[in-house]
Amino acid sequence: MGAIRAEHSLAGSNPDWAQDFRDSLGLETWSQAIAPVVDRLSVGARLELDDGLLLYRHADLAELGRLAHLAKQARFGNKAFFNHNVHINPTNVCALACRFCAFRRSKRQDDAYTFSTEDYVEDLARYADHVTEVHSVGGLHPDWDVTTYEAMFSAAKAAYPHVSIKALTAVEVKHLAIQSNLTVKETLQRLFDAGLDQLPGGGAEILDDEVRAIICNGKESSQEYLDIHATVHELGHVSNCTMLFGTVESLEQRVIHMLRLREVADSTGGFQCFVPYPFLPDDTRLPQAQLATGVEVLRTIAVSRLMLDSIPHIKAYRMNVGDGLGELALRFGADDIDGTVQKESIMHLAGSTAPLDADRRRMARLIHDAGAEAWERNSDYTSFTRYVAPPPPKRRGLKMAIE
Ligand code: SF4
Repeated sequence: MGAIRAEHSLAGSNPDWAQDFRDSLGLETWSQAIAPVVDRLSVGARLELDDGLLLYRHADLAELGRLAHLAKQARFGNKAFFNHNVHINPTNVCALACRFCAFRRSKRQDDAYTFSTEDYVEDLARYADHVTEVHSVGGLHPDWDVTTYEAMFSAAKAAYPHVSIKALTAVEVKHLAIQSNLTVKETLQRLFDAGLDQLPGGGAEILDDEVRAIICNGKESSQEYLDIHATVHELGHVSNCTMLFGTVESLEQRVIHMLRLREVADSTGGFQCFVPYPFLPDDTRLPQAQLATGVEVLRTIAVSRLMLDSIPHIKAYRMNVGDGLGELALRFGADDIDGTVQKESIMHLAGSTAPLDADRRRMARLIHDAGAEAWERNSDYTSFTRYVAPPPPKRRGLKMAIE
C-alpha cells in the first residue's frame, strides 16, 4: 500500500461489503450460464480474464445487472452519488492528434483558444459559490510547462480554497514534465504543492499499445499511464481511471484493461473511481470504430463492477452516456453519475447531448427514479451528505372571479 490517507481507503464503502456480497449471492437463484462466476464470487475468489469474458459473452443482461447491483448494494446500500462540479478546459491547443478526439485544435485554427491564469480564475469565479470541484483537462499546449499550471492552480486555490482541483490527465503530466525538463514525480509534486488535489482518469483509452497506436498514436504508453497514476498515489493523492471502449478493441482487451488497473489499485489503493465511457463518433477520424450499443454500455458497467473489487466506485459518466442510460446504469453496478457539470466541451464536441444545466434537483431525480437515495459527495469521496430536495415552490393560482 502506498501513502494513501486512511480516509481515502474505503471511500464511503461498507467495510464488510465483501462478506455481505457473498452472503447475498446465496439468497438468489442463478442460471447455469453464470454459475461458474457466481461460484467463484461465493467463495471470495476474484474474477479473472475468462470470467470477465464469460460475463460479456454469455450472461443474460438482466441477470448480469442483478449480480453487479448486488455487489454495489453490498458496498453502498441504496446510496448513489453525485457531486456539484464545473468543467473548465484551459486550452484546446494540442501537439497530438488522437483519432477519436473532436476537441483538439492546432494553434493556427480560428477556434483554438488558450486561457491565461486570469481567464481561468475568472471562469471559475462564475461557479465557485456553489461547486465543490473544478475538473480541468485540456490539450498538450506546445508552449506550456509546469509553471503555467502552477500559476493557474495556486491562483484558483488562493481565491477559492473550498474548490477541489481535479486536473490533468496522465499524458498532460508527461507533456509538462518533458517541457519542464523534470521527472514525472517532480512535476506532480510541484503541481500538488501549487494546489492540485487529484488526477482525473482520462487518457487511459484502452491499455493495449497496439490499440493505442491506432487510436491515439503518440500518447503515453499503457505502462506510462499506470506508472503516472501509481506515482500520484505514492505522493499521497488519489486519482480516477477510465476506459474508452467501442473503438477498435476486442472484449479481451477490455477485460485485460480492467485487470491492469486492478493490479495498480491492489498495490496503491489510490484509484477511487473507474469511469468506463463509450466512444462518441461525431467529427472524429475513426471510421472503423465498432461503437457501443446501450446494452454494451450497461454490460461494461456491470462487468467492471464485478472485476474491479479494489476500486470502490464505478461511475456512469452521464456527460457521455446521457442521462437515460446513466440512470439505468445505477441498476447495473454503477453507484455514481458524476456531477452537475455546469460547463463541459470535450464530450459535447464529440456528440454528447446530456444537458449542461443539470442542477442538484435534477441529479437527485435521476437517482430516485433508479430506486436509490441521492447523496452528494465531495470530490475525493471522503464526505457525503444525503440530498433532500427542497419542496417545489407553491403555485399561486389566480383567484376565480365570483360574479
Ligand atoms: S485526446 Fe488529448 S492528447 Fe489526444 S488529441 Fe485530444 S486533447 Fe490532444
